[in-house]
Amino acid sequence: MPEGLDARTIAATNGVAQDTSFGAVIAPIHLSTTFKFPAFEQPGPYDYSRLGNPTRDQLADTIAKLEGGARAVMVSSGMAALDLALSSLCPGDLLVAPHDCYGGTHRLLSLRGARGQYRVIFVDQTDEAALAAALAHKPKVVLVETPSNPLMRVVDVRRVTGQAKAVGALAVVDNTFLSPALQQPIALGADLVVHSTTKFLNGHSDVIGGAVIAAEAAVGDELAAWANTIGVTGSPLDAYLTLRGIRTLFVRVERQQQNAGQLAAFLDAHPAVSRVHYPGLESHPGHAIARAQQAGFGAMLSFELVGGRAAVKTLVENLQVFTLAESLGGVESLIAHPPTMTHAAMDPEARAIAGITDGLLRLSIGLEAVDDLLADLSRGLKAVTRG
Ligand code: PLP
Repeated sequence: MPEGLDARTIAATNGVAQDTSFGAVIAPIHLSTTFKFPAFEQPGPYDYSRLGNPTRDQLADTIAKLEGGARAVMVSSGMAALDLALSSLCPGDLLVAPHDCYGGTHRLLSLRGARGQYRVIFVDQTDEAALAAALAHKPKVVLVETPSNPLMRVVDVRRVTGQAKAVGALAVVDNTFLSPALQQPIALGADLVVHSTTKFLNGHSDVIGGAVIAAEAAVGDELAAWANTIGVTGSPLDAYLTLRGIRTLFVRVERQQQNAGQLAAFLDAHPAVSRVHYPGLESHPGHAIARAQQAGFGAMLSFELVGGRAAVKTLVENLQVFTLAESLGGVESLIAHPPTMTHAAMDPEARAIAGITDGLLRLSIGLEAVDDLLADLSRGLKAVTRG
């Protein structure tokens, strides 16, 4: 493909019409686990699919270009991607992580910490003094998740990656909530970007997958070799589906975030709602940073109900368009209750420190007609108000 193409063109067409066997416009899927050696001691470009696979490489190449990185490594889940991105940490090394990250991330880091595989400090990265105190301990890695799951806290990526580098730490950013369509952390100073490709990149809630994108080729090569060594590389079928999802990434995300903005404004004005967490609202503490570092405010939001857990139960039981389910980033709108679902793995004390209350609900906004989504929430909230 020519150099300098717009990211929308890359998403829609990277690798299209390259098939030399039959001229297939859409690249064929290569499910073969093993590849023929053309001659003794002469492997071809591929030998074994755990190490390398043409379909997976096509996806990796596309994601690396979208993120502005040198190399992407495709793995079997977002958790595998996080674990791979942190695999350079040795016993005694320190990791600084966000205190309100995805619950599975919190569990992974806490368990690795408890086993002595590295040390972890969880910190509110929007609190400059707390972050500076953590960085004074000279971490080897600083992990950022912005906007954070589920409270949508926005971290200034350029500032934190700069501070991380100043103390010699690797800066890793989880870009799952926005996707490269809305945020490109490498351009803001990240060394590694992590994705749960399960979410917006695939976008259809039918693949579990992950990616690590390295700013530097040598780092990417090392991670690819380690992913092969520990056997976490992703499957070709998943790669095929994810690449198909990426073809429509920009149009999906653009429409989904339009819907999200309208729903956030509606919830913000509703008397049964005490607080809305959406960076697109001017009242959001991270609004100005989000405006500066993101290309849009995204399709995720969370809100707190005045009536706590009882109100949550009434609301979710009265919804017909939103589905009560974990995960996010698909074309269908989902509602989740973080304390009992996505963040149930976090101990209650850590949840309280992070600010995840019993009345908190998280929405992943899909592609439905916005009026149907508004009517659904309105009906549910009416039931809450009636008690
Ligand atoms: N990172 C974030 C921000 C997430 O929200 C999730 C899952 O919800 C993950 C990582 C983990 O991804 P996966 O479920 O694909 O392992």
